[in-house]
Amino acid sequence: MDLTSLSSIQRQLADRSLSSRELTQHYLDRIAKLDGDIHSYLHVDPEGALRAADNVDAKRANGESMGVLAGIPISVKDILCTRSMPTTCASKMLSGYMSPFDAHVIEKLQQSDAVLLGKTNLDEFAMGGSTETGYQGPSRNPWNLNRTCGGSSGGSAASVAAGLAAASIGTDTGGSIRQPAAYCGVCGLKPTYGRVSRYGLIAYASSLDQAGPFGLTVRDLGLVLEAIAGHDPRDSTSLHVDNERFSEAADKPVAPYRIGFVPEHLASPGLDPEIRGKLVEAIALYKKLGCQIVELKLPHHRFAIPTYYIVAPSEASSNLSRYDGAHYGFRSEPDKNHGSSESPLVAMYKRSRSQGFGNEVKRRIMLGTYTLSAGYYDAYYLKALKVRRLIRQDYDSAFEQVDAILGPTTPTTPFELGAKKDDPVQMYLEDLYTVSANLAGIPALSIPIGLHSNGLPMGLQLQGAPLSESKLLTIAGAYHREIDYQPRLALA
Ligand code: GLN
Repeated sequence: MDLTSLSSIQRQLADRSLSSRELTQHYLDRIAKLDGDIHSYLHVDPEGALRAADNVDAKRANGESMGVLAGIPISVKDILCTRSMPTTCASKMLSGYMSPFDAHVIEKLQQSDAVLLGKTNLDEFAMGGSTETGYQGPSRNPWNLNRTCGGSSGGSAASVAAGLAAASIGTDTGGSIRQPAAYCGVCGLKPTYGRVSRYGLIAYASSLDQAGPFGLTVRDLGLVLEAIAGHDPRDSTSLHVDNERFSEAADKPVAPYRIGFVPEHLASPGLDPEIRGKLVEAIALYKKLGCQIVELKLPHHRFAIPTYYIVAPSEASSNLSRYDGAHYGFRSEPDKNHGSSESPLVAMYKRSRSQGFGNEVKRRIMLGTYTLSAGYYDAYYLKALKVRRLIRQDYDSAFEQVDAILGPTTPTTPFELGAKKDDPVQMYLEDLYTVSANLAGIPALSIPIGLHSNGLPMGLQLQGAPLSESKLLTIAGAYHREIDYQPRLALA
């Protein structure tokens, strides 16, 4: 059984050497055996998954038409609402919450005949870069259990890297698909803002959040994107654009594309020399393939982190005000010693929010409440919006000169678990190369470029103009073909 790409899985399902039930059982067995250590899942749904698999097997036997992900077992980040499984955002605030509806992405997966294995771990409400802040404990990197798998979609990335799902869906607000993809040695794509509906994606920072795929190969990204993309009237920011055959993009030959890079980013002293070396090799390789290499400047890039860490917490503070102990999930026990200075209702809100949210979420709510407050709105939030526009304009002019921008996904390989947990500024700097794509709303992907001498994966990022996903997949696919990249699992 070769499970290192969706194409090979599809081939085996099509020639009936493998049934979807056998395949699903294989993943469930591996989860039972290996996920105790990795903790990529918060919830596994064996019955639901096997039922879906049996349905697909029956459809195949009857010669019925099937969706693009027919019979393929997939994991989804536990921030997408599912009717059949709990949706917790790894927060005590939503412990035990059952959504009355499915997210658009979940509906799309079901329409594509995918098999949903379960819900994956994340940083609480997707705020973080290490999948350590969830209330049920951290996920571990399958390449080295003492290292982080990145975040916030770390559970999704780890599940694919460890062979506990054939593909996964994560979300990316400031890098949460690309950074864990790089850290776990898998492929990850953040689509153009609006390409995939946010209906049923629990909001962290609404103007930045976007769901997207993880897979072992570039083609896998295209196939899953094909399944989940498309207009949805229930999300007012969903784009009216036709879906494309993204799965075919990865295998197309590269046209003489213009590939840009920012010399300062490659020269940065914080960038691991082995990652730099691989990026320089990649540039040479694209040149050899007939691409034109262009040196670029993104003058406002250095403001991306401060801008993001004003915009994202501002939106988070507003979005998370809905968790009041009354409407969703967790409510604190009444306090018998409650004094009379405050109404019992207000006291219940306070207690529920104090007990329900973890420290990182509280930090962001406080930051965002501050930056949106009457006295500081102009100085922080409005200013950040203006800089955000300048960052987008830098990209607009860059994409007049190039088809894609190549660079690192992360400055280093995965750090030790716990190393940055109590140092938010260090954790925020993780996002140096990823947040600007979200601020600008452009698509970006990360692909593995081999293992570092320390045995840990390294990633390469490609960013493109809005709606240029197909081109990015083609450019990424060509690189993997050229280096003869063989996808492999972190665990046998
Ligand atoms: N690490 C970033 C943050 O903490 C990005 C998170 C994300 O993309 N969801 O906000």
